[in-house]
Amino acid sequence: MSATSRNGSGERERSLAPVPRKYFKGSTDGKRPIAFDPLERVRASYDVIVIGSGLAGLTAANILGRAGHSVCVLEQHYNYGGLATWFKRPGGHVFDISLHGFPIGMKKTCRKYWNAEIAGRIVRLESIRFANPQFTLDTPFTRSDFTEQLVTRFRVPAATVEAFFDHLRRMEFYDASNETTGELFERFFPGRNDVHRLLMEPISYANGSTLEDPAKAYGIVFSNFMSEGVFTFSGGTDRLIQALRAELARNKVELYNHVQVDTIVVEDGRVRGVLAGGRFVEAHTVLSNANVKSTIEKLVGVEHFSDAYRAAARAVRLSNSSCQVFLGIAAGAEIPFIGDLVFHSTRPTFDSPALCDFHGQSRTFSVYYPRTRPGSDRHAIVSSSNARFQDWAGLDAAAYETEKKRLVEDTLACLEQYVPDVRSKIDHCEVATPRTFAFYTQHPLGTSFGTKFEGLQVSLDLSREVQGLFHAGSVGIIMSGWLGAANYGAIQANKIDAHLCALRESAGAHR
Ligand SMILES: Cc1cc2nc3c(=O)[nH]c(=O)nc-3n(C[C@H](O)[C@H](O)[C@H](O)COP(=O)(O)OP(=O)(O)OC[C@H]3O[C@@H](n4cnc5c(N)ncnc54)[C@H](O)[C@@H]3O)c2cc1C
Repeated sequence: MSATSRNGSGERERSLAPVPRKYFKGSTDGKRPIAFDPLERVRASYDVIVIGSGLAGLTAANILGRAGHSVCVLEQHYNYGGLATWFKRPGGHVFDISLHGFPIGMKKTCRKYWNAEIAGRIVRLESIRFANPQFTLDTPFTRSDFTEQLVTRFRVPAATVEAFFDHLRRMEFYDASNETTGELFERFFPGRNDVHRLLMEPISYANGSTLEDPAKAYGIVFSNFMSEGVFTFSGGTDRLIQALRAELARNKVELYNHVQVDTIVVEDGRVRGVLAGGRFVEAHTVLSNANVKSTIEKLVGVEHFSDAYRAAARAVRLSNSSCQVFLGIAAGAEIPFIGDLVFHSTRPTFDSPALCDFHGQSRTFSVYYPRTRPGSDRHAIVSSSNARFQDWAGLDAAAYETEKKRLVEDTLACLEQYVPDVRSKIDHCEVATPRTFAFYTQHPLGTSFGTKFEGLQVSLDLSREVQGLFHAGSVGIIMSGWLGAANYGAIQANKIDAHLCALRESAGAHR
């Protein structure tokens, strides 16, 4: 996302952008540039290669580096962080892509797998606003406040609310139940579309899930948020990634950007290394942070997998994509406090697939006040909506521009309800669409949250199919978002550590 052109078309920008100077190291005749080699300093062999620098990939790399393994991360983009990223624009604008909110659990995760300083920068958002034809309310997004709202405003019996929250708290990934989220809501709050909206809309934005997805996935994610509210990283995503890189350097993890991994080399059912930038880099263990389907179908090749696994992988559904409108507030202009997150909708009732509508009626405003980046006096607003890649993929250049302008106009019309003179305060505006997400992350269909539920099992089973090959990254709803991705990276790192120790022991035994 970081290099989205003003007209938002990543494709155009790639062909128009000047080649960065660092790609040229001078030439012997003073005319012919010598191409910059991003892998110039790479070693011939590592214990582990991590493909992709999303939060799952980086967290795994850090844990493995800290445990004394030699690790390198290969990232095709120039920024590290994957979807946890930001971009800057002239006029002092900084925009965060996916820093809208995560559960308190991220603090513990950062303390355990990163360091106390990073964890210490995680702070709670003050207020979340819902504004739709069914209700308007402000909430700190905690169990106690939701209970209060459901009982006093929505007139749900207190015992039902308590029973609902207790039921969610007990849910686990290995629960046998096939109940969907929609069925769960109907069981506890029959016919109460307004209650379903309150409970579901934020989670649909947080991980792309719908009423048709398994209730246990909803229960786990919603309970995580409900414990203490919604949190953010003080200093912005740029500061976070800077801090992660410093910790990775301390743990001797090597990072290489501008490196497209083309192939994971597999022979006789075992990983041998990767082909990237025209080189072979050896490693008997590879962790892919690329999308799980791309990992199987493109990076490895389906011929290396069993028939049953291939079928399971083919059946994995991708999650939806997103659209965003980035609104930069001019230096000196201010936005009054309207809430940190505003779930705005003009849709009369709640319907989860409609959150992805091409001409949708629902969006979330993330308002970044100066306290987001302490020391700065700037404001920014990012409007995010769920979206389908297919709606945007087939548009020709003119239609694409028209639709982006329409999206900006719709967004501003909504925002004026909260800040009537907002247009006069904005001096930068640009749009990201599912095409932008696909371009910058290489995720199929520009998926924002990886895969639906079934993706998790396929991801977990990868190492059973190919020895030394692991996956970590947004899958299965639960392992998505900043917290889910980072925690999944930690889970996989522990498995890789055990795998590497076993390899060492067997090598020692054969000596
Ligand atoms: C608009 C939007 C808003 C969001 N808001 C929130 C939010 O408020 N809170 C929250 O918790 N989550 C949010 N998310 C989700 C969250 O950002 C992601 O779930 C999480 O960051 C994904 O991490 P990941 O480890 O799966 O990897 P990703 O971030 O998907 O990164 C994968 C990396 O792999 C690289 N890569 C892929 N293929 C290759 C290859 N062949 N060679 C080299 N590199 C490769 C990519 O370039 C990328 O850097 C949001 C997402 C979007 C899109």
